[in-house]
Amino acid sequence: MPNGAPTDSAQAEPLPRRLRRAAFVDRDGTLNPDFHYLADAARLELYRGVPEGIRLLREHGYLVICVTNQSGVERGLYTAEDVDRIHARLNEMLRRSGAEIDAFYYCPHAPERGCACRKPGTELFTRAAHDWAIDLPSSAMIGDRGLDVRAGERLGMLTVFVPQMGHVGEAEAELRVEGLRPDLVAPSFRGAVQQLLTRG
Ligand SMILES: [Mg+2]
Repeated sequence: MPNGAPTDSAQAEPLPRRLRRAAFVDRDGTLNPDFHYLADAARLELYRGVPEGIRLLREHGYLVICVTNQSGVERGLYTAEDVDRIHARLNEMLRRSGAEIDAFYYCPHAPERGCACRKPGTELFTRAAHDWAIDLPSSAMIGDRGLDVRAGERLGMLTVFVPQMGHVGEAEAELRVEGLRPDLVAPSFRGAVQQLLTRG
């Protein structure tokens, strides 16, 4: 006699994975001063307010995903291992303040290659969305360049432009030339997070 366990009832459908929203963040010029082809993790510095901003994003339920162009790899200026070391150190610095970046995605190619992963290409974002079950339209992109705004726009995300200190005029001219209109403009990463969270 069977022990009574139902064997012929339909299996319950697995619940769809709940989608999350993400704050995509650029790296150089957004989280840290852009030293142009940073190769040495020991030289990495964070802008003031970045750890607090990232901690706030996560406390408000955002995944924090860093998407960065690192053409220095294909140009032979540094290696993929150097990039990994920089990202490990970045998170080590953030963890001291109770913050952390959930994942890093980078494009190693030179622009001439015309790949789909170099921003403003969107491939790294869609890959992250797949890996982390992210709802792109309810996500945001924070960055210091027109290509960050362009990538965010292409995916229907809220775009937050944070021009590097000292490069405000240059950055705004870039936006004008490219006909880009970010949803929010902030004076600092911390300010960008504040505006994003206020906007909901
Ligand atoms: Mg940048």
